[in-house]
Amino acid sequence: MSESSSEQGFSRRQFLKASGATSAVLGGAGVGLFGYAAGRDPNSYLGWQTYEGVNQYFNRSKWSVEEATYERVGPTSRPDARTENIFSRRGRLFRQYRERNPAKPEDLDDELLRAHYEKYPEDWELDVINMKEIMPKQRADDEEYGDRFYLSEAWSGAMMAVSPDRISEPPEVSDFPQAGRHGDPTEPLKMKSPELTAKLIKKIAHELGSTLVGIAKLNPDWVYLHPLRGRGFENVDEPLEVPKHWEYAIVVGTPMSWDPLYANPTYGTSMDAYARSRIVSARLAAFIKGLGYAARTHMPGNSYDLMVPPICVDAGIGEQGRHSVVITPELGCNFRPAIVTTNLPMKTDKPIDFGVQDFCKHCKICADNCPSGAITTGDKVDVRGYHRYLLNSSKCNNFWNSTLGSMGCRLCIAVCPYTRKANWLHRTALKVTTNDPTGLSGKVLTGLQESFYPGPDPQDYYIPSLGGQNATYREPPWWLKTEDFIDM
Ligand code: SF4
Ligand code: SF4
Repeated sequence: MSESSSEQGFSRRQFLKASGATSAVLGGAGVGLFGYAAGRDPNSYLGWQTYEGVNQYFNRSKWSVEEATYERVGPTSRPDARTENIFSRRGRLFRQYRERNPAKPEDLDDELLRAHYEKYPEDWELDVINMKEIMPKQRADDEEYGDRFYLSEAWSGAMMAVSPDRISEPPEVSDFPQAGRHGDPTEPLKMKSPELTAKLIKKIAHELGSTLVGIAKLNPDWVYLHPLRGRGFENVDEPLEVPKHWEYAIVVGTPMSWDPLYANPTYGTSMDAYARSRIVSARLAAFIKGLGYAARTHMPGNSYDLMVPPICVDAGIGEQGRHSVVITPELGCNFRPAIVTTNLPMKTDKPIDFGVQDFCKHCKICADNCPSGAITTGDKVDVRGYHRYLLNSSKCNNFWNSTLGSMGCRLCIAVCPYTRKANWLHRTALKVTTNDPTGLSGKVLTGLQESFYPGPDPQDYYIPSLGGQNATYREPPWWLKTEDFIDM
């Protein structure tokens, strides 16, 4: 130490220390900023491919014109859907053919059709060719060569299933293909192997919009002892005997919109992911029926015959956390699942263990932030023969029923350190914690989250009349700020 430097009160050692600390702070800040930027990157919004329409919707302003590019040249009129809509006209003509065999337009007793064909003789020619030649030949060739299109027919049938069928018959009826519906075959198609079938089903589930998909043998322990209403069971007091054809369970899952999720309670909603997963499962069930096998959807809000989380665990989707929600490597717990039970033989997935049980032992962030105290900070207990964390669903539901906006809560999902968008920081943290047998990195990460990303006091999430301040975990996204768009 030189005298002059010590006189100035700043030794070389101190200088080095200070520089090191400054670098660490700057480095940390850099990583933080980089991480923040990565989190804002639209590509980190893991989920369905068209999320936010980012990079898909071209900027149209440079092509903007005053006049549309169709040309208006004279007096306009509206089309007559009865004859100028091709499906409607050909349907009318088909009915005429069923009743009579018209050789020329004059033979038709449908005056509208007759008038149309007199005005447009070419339509008559083309419609007759379609009816008398093309369609019979198509049917004949379909018999001979149509097999190769089984999958495309099932796929198309799945796309038609835009809203889930109401279940009004018992599973022995409702779960099976019905002849005539979307061309369902009456006999199961012969699949080449369970491995290939699993590969196909997963690809179809992703194509239908599912982010997650896994397959498990259905453990009867997860099926309700008595059925819920509205699922085709006449008497809900009669025990539900697990149907033999509920052999496999396919889990599909989609995330809730990220930014509203972080702004719970209660700018977020489960309904977005509910709806997506419902549609995926309805379509997947229709696809499976299109292969001639039984399929039944179990979907949110409350249309289930079984408990979903343990089936997600069996299917390798994730592990159940302290808050009882399933945590996945990709989406954390930000997803809403639906299930299709089926007798379609498939290779099943194995459960996964990426360290959640150990992590949850020490991390109690969800329990500490839960406004209702529904999540235990204690140990697992035995429930119906399984050792698990027990959620107090009555406390949770009481809080749900007290909230405003889109209602519900989902805070435990938002605060869980696993629920992060797919940026490099999250992926790195995941890699580090899953490969660290000491559990130390998990503790460090939990500590960092608690220090740098604290939430409001749990009591503040309550409505004012229950002593709170309508607090949210994070700011709502701009497009949900009512006050910026609507005069109040
Ligand atoms: S949803 Fe809210 S009230 Fe319910 S357990 Fe999670 S944090 Fe607690
Ligand atoms: S917040 Fe922590 S304790 Fe709760 S489920 Fe997530 S990882 Fe487990």
